[in-house]
Amino acid sequence: MKLGTKLIHAGVEPDPSTGAIMTPIYQTSTYVQSAPGQHKGYEYARTQNPTRDALQNALAAIENGTHGICFGSGLAATDAVIKLLEPGDEVIVSNDLYGGTYRIFTKIFERYGIKFHFIGMQDAQQIRQHLNGQTKMIWIETPTNPLMNIIDVAACAQIAQEHNLLLSVDNTFASPYLQNPLDLGAHIVVHSATKYLGGHSDVVHGAVIVKDEALAKQLYFIQNSCGAVPGPQDCFLVLRGLKTLHVRMQRHCDNGAIVARFLREHSKVAKVYWAGFEDHPNHDIAKKQMRGFSGMMSFTLKNDSMDAALKVLSGTRLFSLAESLGGVESLIGHPASMTHASIPREDRLSYGLTDSLIRLSVGIEDADDLLADLDSAITG
Ligand SMILES: *Cc1c(COP(=O)(O)O)cnc(C)c1O
Repeated sequence: MKLGTKLIHAGVEPDPSTGAIMTPIYQTSTYVQSAPGQHKGYEYARTQNPTRDALQNALAAIENGTHGICFGSGLAATDAVIKLLEPGDEVIVSNDLYGGTYRIFTKIFERYGIKFHFIGMQDAQQIRQHLNGQTKMIWIETPTNPLMNIIDVAACAQIAQEHNLLLSVDNTFASPYLQNPLDLGAHIVVHSATKYLGGHSDVVHGAVIVKDEALAKQLYFIQNSCGAVPGPQDCFLVLRGLKTLHVRMQRHCDNGAIVARFLREHSKVAKVYWAGFEDHPNHDIAKKQMRGFSGMMSFTLKNDSMDAALKVLSGTRLFSLAESLGGVESLIGHPASMTHASIPREDRLSYGLTDSLIRLSVGIEDADDLLADLDSAITG
């Protein structure tokens, strides 16, 4: 079955009690047993919920995995993955990554004795220099946030395999429409379903997808033991969002290409970060592992001052100034003060995340209106 069909049908069966075509929101905390231990496979709603099951099965199918495990947010999903590790273990992490991921790694898990090495991975072979006997996992985000670097997932998978490590890929920016890390050799895929999967800026949700039975078992155990489960209404919203992922993503890609090219030609713009450009340093890898370049991009102005950037940020009308991404509406953001404020300034600057960098999540509005909006904000 191809992706567009899976997105609509996978995991979803007509409801057994009524035939409802959409999986109902099973808003219940428990399930009645006919005799002690005799039940229909559902005992308590932290452990199992039919709305969540439908979504978990759908997510497994669209990432070409075997098991989906859902959480109350993308960071709760990340939290569960790191709980696969033990004190003393080490993780090699791509340095240009979501600020909240950096925060949970450094401010929470380092206190529990797990060590994280943040390194540039545009050349995946860099990873080898940081391997030691304690290394247990490679954690990457690609495209990276917010600089849109591309990391070669298959090359990372090769290193992981040679050294018996887990490779975990945060696939939030690409979505399964554009990239399937499990097919490239990754063991674990993480999503903030808050973004493209949900797609309508109306839910916070996270997921982990794997294709290994033992890993799935451990993750379900963590899901149930730690309890960061999503509510059934949130699962329903993500399940509904999935049904149009392919249609939305195609428009995000089309609009993204139009906006990226427009910005690159603009007299006041210095640099546009978008992997779809042929001269992007990792364009070949992007083309090899992705089927498009999404609606995410960043840019800097020729007037490289905080002030000039702030003017643009408050000058758009269609692009709303907000954190998050991946919804149908276009957003504009300032990583240094918003999504990436939790990364120390020296660290940010060291890999190119400057104070004047502006990030766009290009939505699915009419492109002409988006260009006019950006032009008036940039030209002032
Ligand atoms: C938003 C985001 C997260 C965190 O997800 P939440 O749902 O906000 O907890 C993780 N990774 C990336 C790439 C994100 O954009």
